[in-house]
Amino acid sequence: MMKVTVECTKCGNKVELTPVTNGQHAYLNRNLRENDFRIHEVVMPVEITSSPYMDFTDKLTQSRTNEETNEILDDDIRYNVDLEKKLEEVRIDCGNCGDYIVLTEFE
Ligand SMILES: [Zn+2]
Repeated sequence: MMKVTVECTKCGNKVELTPVTNGQHAYLNRNLRENDFRIHEVVMPVEITSSPYMDFTDKLTQSRTNEETNEILDDDIRYNVDLEKKLEEVRIDCGNCGDYIVLTEFE
C-alpha cells in the first residue's frame, strides 16, 4: 500500500492519505478538511478553440432576445467550444497555524 503524508512541521498537524477503494483512490479534500488543512487548486486555461457548427451560428444570429441567446448558449456551448485546462498549483494551508505549501510543476 502507498500513502501520502501531509505534515505541518511548525505545529505538528498531520494527515495520512491512504487508499480506500479497489482503484486505490484516496480522498484528498475530505481528508484534509477533516484534519484542519485547506486545499486550493489553481487551474490555468491553456487553449480555447472554437469551431462552431453552422446551425449554432445560425441560431445565434437569428436570436431576437437576450433570453433566447442565453438559452442557445446554455444548450450548445459545450459542443461548440473546447477548453483545455492545466493544473498549475495546489496550495495546502494548515488551518491550525497558517503555514502553507505550494505544490507546483505538474508536468
Ligand atoms: Zn501548522
